[in-house]
Amino acid sequence: MVETVVDSPCPVCGKKTLVYRAEELDLPYFGKCLETTMICKNCGFRHADVMMLEVHEPMLYEFTIHDEEDLNVKVIRSTSGTIEIPELGAKIEPGPLSEAFITTVEGVLNRIVNVLVQLMHDNPDMKDKINEILRKIGYIRHGKMVAKIILKDPLGNSGIVSEKVRRRRLSEKEIKELKLGEIIYEIRRGY
Ligand SMILES: [Zn+2]
Repeated sequence: MVETVVDSPCPVCGKKTLVYRAEELDLPYFGKCLETTMICKNCGFRHADVMMLEVHEPMLYEFTIHDEEDLNVKVIRSTSGTIEIPELGAKIEPGPLSEAFITTVEGVLNRIVNVLVQLMHDNPDMKDKINEILRKIGYIRHGKMVAKIILKDPLGNSGIVSEKVRRRRLSEKEIKELKLGEIIYEIRRGY
């Protein structure tokens, strides 16, 4: 792991206490990938991203969750990746606060559960609808319901690590429909 002191101030507390960490990982089917994290040692601000060092094509990955074993499959989601689980009506899109994560299929389901619980707390009238989705997640976890997890990344920095995954290049039309991470958007606006 490499740690570098950053010369610019922290976007949250304004102190020059940022460090940048980079760690190289070697993933089956992908080759080398770089996990980067910016951390503020003063206020705890953190921003993570992940970059594939060998594959850079705009890609779509589709993985079908059949059984409990499939929950352990690794999912790499960079800040430009969009994750969809159509069976749950769930979508994780890049946005200003989007964080990269390296997790498992189970980790993705857990993230969705956390969002749903928060949503239920904020919107009690949606309780029945949300409970129905939570029940489905329970079925998926126990291999009682088949669901697809689709991951699209126009920059090719995300992926699902399994020999059972189906992957193909994204079409130009599909690329246009995807949102990109905030940083890229700002560069395009000419900052
Ligand atoms: Zn800070």
